[in-house]
Amino acid sequence: MLASGNAGKLRELSALLAPLRLELLTQDSRGIRAAEETGASFLDNALLKARHAARMAALPALADDSGLEVDALGGRPGVRSARYAGENASAAQNLALLVRELTAVPEGRRGAHYQCVIVFVRSWDDPAPLIAHGSWEGAIARDSRGTGGFGYDPVFVPAGGARTAAELSPAEKNLASHRGKALRALIAMLTAPGYIPAP
Ligand code: IMP
Repeated sequence: MLASGNAGKLRELSALLAPLRLELLTQDSRGIRAAEETGASFLDNALLKARHAARMAALPALADDSGLEVDALGGRPGVRSARYAGENASAAQNLALLVRELTAVPEGRRGAHYQCVIVFVRSWDDPAPLIAHGSWEGAIARDSRGTGGFGYDPVFVPAGGARTAAELSPAEKNLASHRGKALRALIAMLTAPGYIPAP
C-alpha cells in the first residue's frame, strides 16, 4: 500500500520498485483518505502517513514525505512544500511564489536541496519501521524550464549540471534524486538477510 495520491511521486516510486516482485496499490485506489500531515518533520509525516495507510488497508505500507529546503529562505518551504502558497495551492502557484520570493537573491546564494524520508511499516503498529533518507543538492533558477518531473522541478538545477530537474529523463532523475536515493536505501533494508517480512 502506498500512502500517496501524488501522481508524480507515484510514477517515480513505481519505476524504482518495478524490479522487486511487489505489488504497489495506492490508497486512493482503495478509497482511503489521506492522513493529515500534522508533523513537524519529514520523518513525523512519513511515519504518520504509513501507519494510517497500513491501518486503513490492513496491509504493509510505504509512505514518503519530501520537500524543498531553500537556503536563502532559512529552509522554507520544507515540510510545507505542497502547501506553500496556501492549503489548496497548485504546484504552479507554489512554484510562482518561490520564484517571486527569490527575485532579489543573487546567483551564488540560490542554493537549495530536496529532502525525502521514506518509511515502511509491516502493520499499523509495527514496532520497528524501516526509515530511509535521501537528499539532492542544487540551486533555484530564475525561470522555469522543462516539462518532466513535478512540483518545483522546472526551477531546480541539480548541482554540477545546467539542466533543471524537469529537463532530465525519468531515469536520470531517479538516479540522482532524493527519492531515488531514499528508495534504494529502503530496498537494501527490505532485502537484507534477517529482515522479517511480517510481524
Ligand atoms: P508531501 O506530499 O507532503 O511529501 O509534499 C511533497 C512536496 O514537495 C511536493 O508536492 C512538491 O511540492 C515538493 N517535492 C518533493 N519532491 C519533489 C520532486 O522530486 N520534485 C519537485 N517537487 C518535489
